[in-house]
Amino acid sequence: MDFNTDEHFYGINKSLYYKNEEQKNEIKKMDPEYLTRTGTDFVLLPNSPEFINHNEPFEPMYIPKQTILEESLRREIERICFADTLLNKVVFDCTDPSPFTKDIDPAIYGLEVLPFYLPQSKEDSTLVFESRFESGNLRRAIQICDYEYNLILKPDYYTTMNTQWFYFSLSNTRKDVEYRFNIINMMKPDSLYNSGMKPLMYSEQGAKQKKIGWFRDGHEICYYQNNMKRKNGGFYYTLTFAVKFQHDFDCVYIAHCYPYTFTHLCRYLKQLESDPAKKNRVKRKQLCQTIAGNMCDFLIIGDFNNGKEKKGIIITSRVHPGETMASYVMEYMIDFLTGNTHEARILRENFIFKIVPMLNIDGVVNGNYRCNLAGVDLNRQWIDPNKKQHPTIYHTKQLVKKTKEERDLVLFCDIHGHSRKKNIFMYGCSGKDPNRKELVFPMLNRNNCSVFSFKDCCFLLQKDREGSARIALWRELSIINCYTLEMSFCGADFGKYEYFHFNLDIYKEIAQSFCLSIIDCYEPEQIKVKQVMEEIEQNSLKNQQKDDKNNSGDEGSDYSNDDPKEQAMPQQQIQLQNNDQQLGSQTKKLKKIPLLPPKKKKGQ
Ligand SMILES: [Zn+2]
Repeated sequence: MDFNTDEHFYGINKSLYYKNEEQKNEIKKMDPEYLTRTGTDFVLLPNSPEFINHNEPFEPMYIPKQTILEESLRREIERICFADTLLNKVVFDCTDPSPFTKDIDPAIYGLEVLPFYLPQSKEDSTLVFESRFESGNLRRAIQICDYEYNLILKPDYYTTMNTQWFYFSLSNTRKDVEYRFNIINMMKPDSLYNSGMKPLMYSEQGAKQKKIGWFRDGHEICYYQNNMKRKNGGFYYTLTFAVKFQHDFDCVYIAHCYPYTFTHLCRYLKQLESDPAKKNRVKRKQLCQTIAGNMCDFLIIGDFNNGKEKKGIIITSRVHPGETMASYVMEYMIDFLTGNTHEARILRENFIFKIVPMLNIDGVVNGNYRCNLAGVDLNRQWIDPNKKQHPTIYHTKQLVKKTKEERDLVLFCDIHGHSRKKNIFMYGCSGKDPNRKELVFPMLNRNNCSVFSFKDCCFLLQKDREGSARIALWRELSIINCYTLEMSFCGADFGKYEYFHFNLDIYKEIAQSFCLSIIDCYEPEQIKVKQVMEEIEQNSLKNQQKDDKNNSGDEGSDYSNDDPKEQAMPQQQIQLQNNDQQLGSQTKKLKKIPLLPPKKKKGQ
């Protein structure tokens, strides 16, 4: 059936709104333990969107226009001055009943649910928004002009903050018309959107006709403090961008980073388990249930047939639901570790890997950016996690302790995304070891990965991060190699990928080079370890970064209201300061953009 010809469904993805019999039967057959539960009042649509991941080219960052901030602020002032003339029509709300479709029986369209808005005719160009799918988080869309919309994001459940992640769809597009979107309740004081980052988009028609997956798009992008006061002090921030869609009546998804849902993970794990080649290399175990009742699993990877003594390595990810790249890197690591390469075999022969791929499943399902359903940041609960409020952290900590008892636990790493810095880097913990052994593993990663930046690594023990996995486990269990792996939401600021966005190829590269660095770190000859130890000695790296105060802000706790210094300043001053910084960083980056995308490394 061609949905696009259906009256009132101009480009709307109808398959989101109903499940056919085959899908219903499939779900009945599925293991009920792995059904997705929201645990909230958020009702998911019958279906979630499915995407193709093509091998996208390296996409350049945008060149920020020098006057973009002035222009954005001017538009903001115009909207305030001419507020009476704006349409101010609520065209989407993810929880409130729709005045447009509340009296229509969805069954007449063969659906279980209806979109919030249905176009009145082919000439009605109002966009039809949707976000009631897994990880979606658009709360409301307000049409303010024919082709301009203000968007409001859902804060994390049981909090009033943490809006940064966004993921929603819109349909009924018009080709070559300039649309503008303003996400008006952002929280962080600065954003990579002012340093060349573009939002990600996915066109259903582009995917269908040309097999194009997620791509970067948008222009006139700016992130600035707006005039909306927050209840507890401070102001909100706006991300504004314009975009021209390529197709009429298309359905386009827009996101902060490549979406990666719990359902996607369950499918991936099922596939992994049923792969006959991998069956003997990986075991899937249940760790615990989340607050919403979703089953959190972990994997054990190793060569279970040889009795050789093995060292332990634990890798976790997605404690922060909005940092979706962590899941891609995790998936590529699992692929590598369970794969057929010589290196993977060496790793399985010498190590037991315990992997918790998704620590904050409920947050992922509900479209949170940072917290779980207890409304807390799980990466601050590692000192004394509560079994009921933070079950996945409690049980992962038990798993770490048990592993430490049964074998030499040599490495722990928690994978994250970073919202303000570029590059890929690590945070570690510096203690009393005069040889600074904690620097070795990150330096080996630098040698193996073209986008890994050692200068961005930080080994400080910040007071407000004491409850993070990195510091808490380092302190309690004395794991020298205890790290957070951070990846920019944007891209690199050096090397061959400078000025290009990170994409799935880069995530694969970091995953593989991380695994290869483990071999370098623990091979018996210690050849590469000796080299970097010498480098540490020669370059006096021993003392570096023990007191580098500028290199903090890890694990992403960088909200304006957390910073007492910022609270003490008058708001206008903050705005000007931020704006100066933003413009400063924009103009600095103008000249050196290369014209051709970098060539891919061989063998990837
Ligand atoms: Zn994080």
